[in-house]
Amino acid sequence: MVKKIVLTLFLGINFLIAQNTEYWQQHVDYTMDVAMNVENYQYDGTQKLVYTNNSPDTLNRVYYHLYFNAFQPGSEMDIRLQTIQDGDGRMMNEGASRIATLTANEIGYLHVQSLTQNGKAVKFNEEETILVVDLAEPILPGGTATFDMEFKGQVPLQIRRSGRNNREGVALSMTQWYPKMAEYDFEGWHPNPYIAREFHGVWGDFDVKITIDKEYVIGGTGYLQNPNEIGHGYEAPETKVKTKGKTLTWHFKAPMVHDFAWGADSEYVHDIVEMENGPDLHFFYKDNDEIRENWKNLQPKTVAAMEFFNKNVGEYPYEQYSVIQGGDGGMEYAMCTLITGERSFGSLVGVMVHEMAHSWFQHVLATNESKHSWMDEGFTSFISSLCMNQIMEQGKENPFEGSYKGYFNLVRSGFEQPQTTHADRYDKNFAYGVAAYSKGSIFLAQLGYVIGQDKLMESLRKYYSDFKFKHPTPNDIKRTAEKVSGIELDWYLTDWTQTTNTIDYGVKEVVADGNKTKIVLERKGLMPMPLDILVVDTEGNSSIYYVPLRMMRGEKVNPYPSLDRTVSEDWPWAYPTYELILDMPLENLAGLNIDPSQLMADIERTNNIWQAE
Ligand SMILES: [Zn+2]
Repeated sequence: MVKKIVLTLFLGINFLIAQNTEYWQQHVDYTMDVAMNVENYQYDGTQKLVYTNNSPDTLNRVYYHLYFNAFQPGSEMDIRLQTIQDGDGRMMNEGASRIATLTANEIGYLHVQSLTQNGKAVKFNEEETILVVDLAEPILPGGTATFDMEFKGQVPLQIRRSGRNNREGVALSMTQWYPKMAEYDFEGWHPNPYIAREFHGVWGDFDVKITIDKEYVIGGTGYLQNPNEIGHGYEAPETKVKTKGKTLTWHFKAPMVHDFAWGADSEYVHDIVEMENGPDLHFFYKDNDEIRENWKNLQPKTVAAMEFFNKNVGEYPYEQYSVIQGGDGGMEYAMCTLITGERSFGSLVGVMVHEMAHSWFQHVLATNESKHSWMDEGFTSFISSLCMNQIMEQGKENPFEGSYKGYFNLVRSGFEQPQTTHADRYDKNFAYGVAAYSKGSIFLAQLGYVIGQDKLMESLRKYYSDFKFKHPTPNDIKRTAEKVSGIELDWYLTDWTQTTNTIDYGVKEVVADGNKTKIVLERKGLMPMPLDILVVDTEGNSSIYYVPLRMMRGEKVNPYPSLDRTVSEDWPWAYPTYELILDMPLENLAGLNIDPSQLMADIERTNNIWQAE
């Protein structure tokens, strides 16, 4: 009897452990067939979606995103725009919401006409940008279900990201355009309304047919299956393309992506650059004298950027990448980007580099953008700053300087909220922007200060190779860096991303101590950091003193190999001060500088420096 009870308990515990640690992700395969009317911007479509439930849970409901319903007066997106203190200028006209004034034939919509699960009708209800579906029968763990749907849409006037007739005259920016299954993961469902930010999708294969006026050229996600029927630059060399009728049906397939986007215009130029050891790069831009030269010069820079990311993060896994003129600035999608094209050359390269970097940090490492925007926008900003510095020969000593300035401004403004804030729930767009882009970029730049630059880049490459085609979480980048560096980093992840604690270290006192010199350092901010201290003597000789943080349980290698480094005792965080003894008399000391690299985001740098009178 006693034995039996113990055995039962054991089984129970083992089961719980297995449930908590085993990674799984859902899978979707879409087959869609849509017809676009280029006169009234309405479209009809069918969608067959085969859903595989790899979770340990039985599902009784599913949710779809219906993003285009956001572009209607009174939508959550509209009301948020009207009530946030610093509304997005792209979406406003003289301070007023552009969504609020859309007429019936200018709004966007996406409506589901019919929906069945394995041939049986299901109950579904549209709640603006989310479709709530009560299933006809539960989907068991490991089970699949086939959903057949008919839908109807209208492309809104371009307000944000998607839309028709953007300000550069691109006819169709077709992003967030189809009913898209919401993600279900270890945290549960993510039926996140479309208010401002949107990415978290289910991995799967897409098979998409688009029927459109035959004058239109399409660029987007996926490989074109019928290039010799379509032409428009896709056909094999010297193929004569014969078309009948007024429309063409374009057939695309995209394997292992979590989104599908496209742009179309009747005036697109279509250039293809075949990379030697890389994907084919496609460029779609308006046939316009003012931008043609920039778009030609952009092409070798796109090759250089692809090579940079391949080398520094990991191989781009698809055979195609497209840079498409469209949208309202720059936005990343699977295997492509939509960017506005009437820019200076530097700005055009900058936006291409940023959006292409998202191919790694969003479209292959598919983080939940609503919850961890710093992992896609921040990491993208980090790697694109490095890339721009190289391919545009900027020669910046600290390519992240702009990110630090932005972060310090945010801290001083008093509007900072922790990076764990949902991307739609920041008080101000300004606070979201700096937290996601600047503070997110500093997460990595400063991690390089903590564990060393080589270990940082090695961590990034390992993170990519371990988590590609998955949904990594903040802990995954932290654990990767811990494994690569041998340094404990829990304190770094928690303080930097989950709080608004700041870093401020300073030199409090410098006094003679016989033949030596006593330096009293102080920690004024709550966030802990290890310290590199540059010491310069009166003869101009420099050396480095390194004060590791005790809770790191490890040390980085000397980041200044040309200088002698003294590794001092660990600093236990709770102590507000620390005594560093220099092996030189005070009169020989010319100056001190805490963190000469300026990669530590110390909010008050004036007290980092001490100079002899
Ligand atoms: Zn971005």
